[in-house]
Amino acid sequence: MNKAKYTYLFEEGNSDMRETLGGKGANLAEMSRIGLPVPPGFTVTTKACNEYYNNDANLTDEMKEQIFESLQKIEDESGKGFGEKENPLLVSVRSGAVASMPGMMDTVLNLGLNDETVEGLAEKTGNRRFALDSYRRFIQMFGDVVHGIEHYLFEDIIENEKDKNGVENDVELSEKALEDIIVEFKKVFEQKTGDKFPEDPKEQLLQAIKAVFNSWNNQRAKVYRQINDIPDDLGTAVNVQSMVFGNMGEDCGTGVAFTRNPSTGEKKLYGEFLMNAQGEDVVAGIRTPKSIEELKDILPEVYDQFVDVYEKLENHYRDMQDIEFTVEKKKLYLLQTRNGKRTAKAAVKIAVDMVKEGLIDKKEAINRVEPNHIDQLLHPQIDTEKKLDVIAKGLPASPGAASGQIVFDPNEAERKKENGENVVLLRPETTPDDIHGIVAAEGVLTSRGGMTSHAAVVARGMGKPCVSGCDAVSIDINKEVVQVDDTILKKGDLISIDGATGNVIKGEVELIDPKLGGEFKEILDWANDMKGLAVWANADTPEDAKKAREFGAEGIGLCRTEHMFMAQERIPKVRRMIMSETEEQRKEALEDLLPLQEEDFYEILKAMDGLPTTIRLLDPPLHEFLPNSQDLACEIERMKVKEEDEEKILEKEEFLKAVNALEESNPMLGHRGCRLGLTYPEIYITQAKAIIKAVIKLKDEGCKPCPEIMIPLVGYSKELSMMREMLEDTIKELEEENNISLNIPIGTMIELPRACVTADEISEHADFFSFGTNDLTQTTLGYSRDDAEGKFLHYYIQQNLLEKNPFSVLDQEGVGKLIETAVDKTRKTKPEFKLGVCGEHGGEPSSIEFFNKLGLNYVSCSPYRVPVARFAAARAKLNNN
Ligand code: ADP
Ligand code: MG
Ligand code: MG
Repeated sequence: MNKAKYTYLFEEGNSDMRETLGGKGANLAEMSRIGLPVPPGFTVTTKACNEYYNNDANLTDEMKEQIFESLQKIEDESGKGFGEKENPLLVSVRSGAVASMPGMMDTVLNLGLNDETVEGLAEKTGNRRFALDSYRRFIQMFGDVVHGIEHYLFEDIIENEKDKNGVENDVELSEKALEDIIVEFKKVFEQKTGDKFPEDPKEQLLQAIKAVFNSWNNQRAKVYRQINDIPDDLGTAVNVQSMVFGNMGEDCGTGVAFTRNPSTGEKKLYGEFLMNAQGEDVVAGIRTPKSIEELKDILPEVYDQFVDVYEKLENHYRDMQDIEFTVEKKKLYLLQTRNGKRTAKAAVKIAVDMVKEGLIDKKEAINRVEPNHIDQLLHPQIDTEKKLDVIAKGLPASPGAASGQIVFDPNEAERKKENGENVVLLRPETTPDDIHGIVAAEGVLTSRGGMTSHAAVVARGMGKPCVSGCDAVSIDINKEVVQVDDTILKKGDLISIDGATGNVIKGEVELIDPKLGGEFKEILDWANDMKGLAVWANADTPEDAKKAREFGAEGIGLCRTEHMFMAQERIPKVRRMIMSETEEQRKEALEDLLPLQEEDFYEILKAMDGLPTTIRLLDPPLHEFLPNSQDLACEIERMKVKEEDEEKILEKEEFLKAVNALEESNPMLGHRGCRLGLTYPEIYITQAKAIIKAVIKLKDEGCKPCPEIMIPLVGYSKELSMMREMLEDTIKELEEENNISLNIPIGTMIELPRACVTADEISEHADFFSFGTNDLTQTTLGYSRDDAEGKFLHYYIQQNLLEKNPFSVLDQEGVGKLIETAVDKTRKTKPEFKLGVCGEHGGEPSSIEFFNKLGLNYVSCSPYRVPVARFAAARAKLNNN
């Protein structure tokens, strides 16, 4: 059997060996391989780490042997000797897991120094002060990082020494003072570890390597792995690299740079450096670093090396790089490179620019941009560079950010808006009566209600930010104050909300406006050209329909008709319909509503001219259109106390009776959907009539309306066949009357488990299916969404019982399995049957990937999610087909 290889010299590895060498090691190897200036070194593999653990946390003899063999090669290459006084080799010991991981051991620099080699270093550099300073840094780092000795114990000694010598800064400490510090440092080391400070560099090295391996299993690292799904048996690598010094004088320095601007994406070297400094000094913020531009004047020859190197790096990696570098006596060394983290804006610009520069193709560009980047770019964003005073956190109900004066009254919101003032509307919860206030406000904050509360749904529909269910704030609309802990804010005070995080922020924050132009539009168009799943939109109003088209929707997957009933001025008519005692009365009332509905459909179908428009007939239980029974009872009491007109009181009491009669103990599972349509056929018939009349009118005008009628909440095929017959009769009647043939598809929403498992039977009576994944999730899990989100879901997620909120991210194993079953059953007999999704999951990237795999025809989501969905659909297609 071949001997296991536990160490790789940098020149032996490459960037594909991340699993063995860790991210840092693989990239150091790659940079050496392509001839960039990297100080020589080697990597101890992740495999060694795992075997170390199998060997009861001991390095095996074989490992030690290979470590010292590799070290010997570095000595040969550099002409320096490890532990040799004359020309000592010093190294850094750096951890490096496969994925960069906070919680891993920090780096130890200057390893190899002891009482002898420090003098050699002094002689060789002609700078004893530098040598002593390097030594005391080493003892400090070694003690802190390898043995966990508290930092302050060392810092106290330095402070003491400074006081004693009457100096302010570290750099003013004399050689003598540094010598004293070293003696004191070693004392602390001995006190804390019970051992003398290891003078033998080989011992130092083995201790440091073991410490890196041990840090793989410290608490912080374990927790991080758990959260980020990183397997425990990956192990970490260790990099041992010969030191270069940025702190040897004014022709030295150290810094970090990005090959492009990570916040704007601009193609321009972006970075900072410190003259005469070592490693971590830049991050530590002790001195203010200079911008990389200035290097041009200070050390022009180094700047030129830099430009050469960073261009090579980008061309090689074909991505923006984040690099660490050190300059020793005017010579540039690279110490690390990785793909740089970037904002959404920069991600898009860099991807598009790189396509134009010929570095990557369009497919890769689409893969480089995350769907949530697209999402972020679509909403005004909070400038996170600024400090934020977050006072509470609610549900992130509708993304985007808003700032403005606090207003409690919707009318006042409207007045202020007219005066050109920005307001945020605060309510315990909102009702249809508050709509004008929501329209006028920049955003809405409610203390009650879940992700489907009125405020949340309305705000999402309008693309307005909303934080709902924020029970940490108590809103008093009478006194017009809001209290969070000790903070009390009044009407007119400034507040901000971030609907993407649920954060409530005191004061105003700076917002950055979204733009659908430039590179952003370009990449969206490329995504569209990939022709993944089609993306339709959920839109109930002509305005939404227009918006959806603007964002590229290819149809409407869900047009809910209940919103048409909810409009303030229609409520009395709707109520009359509901309160009807006879079929005759109901028909009469509906006749009244017919022209209004027709007008709605006319406008929507016109806006969607030529594109399919799926209209869902009335779904919610009727009592949703009636006032709350308790409110009504109170009102009756009041009327009695005031001794108002007997007749009026009697009338109200009748009304209350009706409201009570309609009230259900479990409306979600009650008298709604097609159950309503079957028991009150006039309602659906009237809606169908309204659609057909609108179609006929539009056709006369030369338009191409394409409505599709969708029946909600079908569980039995018989429900659909009965409904279908009824609707077809109505359609036929009108067709004959107008001497026209219309061909309107009739389909159903699949939102009950029973519908999924009997989908083949149901499909016999349907022209299409649309999976209503919101209700399907509720009915499959047996959760009522608002109750779940308001009460236990949070806990479930915290306890890792559930990974994600199943109402945002499709539960693929459960709900997804049901959908898969329905797809299989349907497509077996009807391979071309049209299938779509119209739940909120239709706009969520990981769910879209799943729908793509099932071979659905389209997803439908809120107009503002359309670009995200288009993008996610393209990526799903790229990565799965
Ligand atoms: P981190 O992951 O915290 O960045 P690193 O291992 O990259 O840890 O190193 C910390 C600092 O030390 C960085 O600034 C790095 O450039 C510097 N450094 C690491 N190794 C060397 C070396 N051999 N010579 C000079 N500086 C080094
Ligand atoms: Mg680093
Ligand atoms: Mg539903």
